[in-house]
Amino acid sequence: MTTTDPLAAGTVYLVGAGPGDPGLLTRHGADALTRADVVVYDRLADNSMLALAPPDAELIYVGKQAAVHSVPQPRINELLSEHALLGKCVVRLKGGDPFVFGRGGEEATHLRERGVPFIVVPGVSSSVAAPAYAGIPVTDRRYASSFAVITGHEDPTKPQTRIDWAGIAHGADTLVFLMGLTNLPRIAERLIAEGRAADTPAAVIERGTTPGQRVVTGTLADVDARVRTAGLHPPALIVVGDVVRLREQLAWHGSQPLAGRRILVPRVRRRPSEIVRLLKAAGAETAEVPVLRSDTLPPASGLLDRLAGADWLVFTSPGSMDALLEQLAGLGKDVRALGGGRLAAVGPATAAHLRRRGLRLDYAPETAAGFAAGLPGVSDAGLLLIGEEDGDPHAAHGLAAAGATVRELPVFRLAVDERAPLPEIGEFDAVAFASSNTARRFLEAYPDGPAEGQLVVSIGPSTTATATALGLRVDGEAADASPAALVRLIGERLGSCDAGLGAPAVDQGTAPA
Ligand code: SAH
Repeated sequence: MTTTDPLAAGTVYLVGAGPGDPGLLTRHGADALTRADVVVYDRLADNSMLALAPPDAELIYVGKQAAVHSVPQPRINELLSEHALLGKCVVRLKGGDPFVFGRGGEEATHLRERGVPFIVVPGVSSSVAAPAYAGIPVTDRRYASSFAVITGHEDPTKPQTRIDWAGIAHGADTLVFLMGLTNLPRIAERLIAEGRAADTPAAVIERGTTPGQRVVTGTLADVDARVRTAGLHPPALIVVGDVVRLREQLAWHGSQPLAGRRILVPRVRRRPSEIVRLLKAAGAETAEVPVLRSDTLPPASGLLDRLAGADWLVFTSPGSMDALLEQLAGLGKDVRALGGGRLAAVGPATAAHLRRRGLRLDYAPETAAGFAAGLPGVSDAGLLLIGEEDGDPHAAHGLAAAGATVRELPVFRLAVDERAPLPEIGEFDAVAFASSNTARRFLEAYPDGPAEGQLVVSIGPSTTATATALGLRVDGEAADASPAALVRLIGERLGSCDAGLGAPAVDQGTAPA
């Protein structure tokens, strides 16, 4: 696909993906991804952000495999300029910030030489974010008024080292070494040799900001031995300085009740579910499968008359309004074409979405369950149900039973995004079914069902019944059929209470068995 936006044509976006937590991608970065024709990406801690790219975007992996650059830098440079010169919108996605040990500068130089326009979208660098997630502020009025970020890639014992070690040792209060895990013993020795006290606090942070984050603390004298005992692996960074002491009071990531737990949440909706939001807040790592995308359907014939003729426009899901507006835009119309009918939303997420779009709702009950019964004047109303093609028929049935004339207006279709590979079922501690349809969707994705010993929970009786009828084992059911109750149940079965804030020397990032 060639972009239709002339301003974006042929531009390369050098985008920082952040250090691992996908929530740390910037809004500029996310915007660039949604407009990409080509994404050239490195090894990322979390590939989920690639799903932001349009379905037909070309995704090119050029990252490292076991310390070997699978694609040499000059070739990466060429890939960027070649695609851009074809008029494509190219996103170059890199971990952390593109200009912090990311070779973004070299790529920018190459693009400038070829006359290719580029835009740099800074990212959240691991050099500050991983310490932050470990409860270590890189500066603090009490302990440090400067910090330096240094490559740990150079062996400090080699005579040709380009680093001024004497200067580094005393040049900043806090020292952050990237790419330094292999050289850790030599870096520590060299700093001591240059006069940094052997009892200076030091920390090594592995996979910072991710649910798998592990942190080892010690001093310059003993941190390497501790790191070897714990068996830390790259990506990891080293923090040296008195600020490391603050971790004892400030550690927060990984101390939530479900820290280190991985929960599979099968889904039938495209928006992230409330369950996933609550699980993440409890520290769990979640995967929503399959990855879905919403395709807006062509406008139905007589769309404008149907909208104008309805007593009630009932939006059945958050995506329905967006898809309808897209259809209207295609006809040269806008929100005014909704006409004089009253507006209703099924479910609180739909209501919230419509309100954010500036619409005042005439009917939006808290739960979808009693929707039909409470609709004002339902018995002789003409309703237009706006939503997913082949969506949940429950709403329509309930309304028809209550005496309404119900017509359906499908505005979008959900399709499985085939580009996103399914994670292995064995990687998860639990599977959570939020509805009957999610149980069905789960079996389509994983015909062998859940793995041995995995916790399988359901949101309520009808979901349990469906799952059981499909031959799925259900180990527990939420107390009151709400997302909060489902997450509470998972917490009771899997949570740890003693993962407190005491900041042990080794924080494995996983709850004790
Ligand atoms: N541009 C990146 C750094 C690239 S160099 C940034 O701004 O973060 C790669 C090094 O960054 C790794 O060797 C490691 O030292 C560090 N790093 C990247 N992500 C990390 C993470 N999640 N946790 C700890 N260190 C990380």
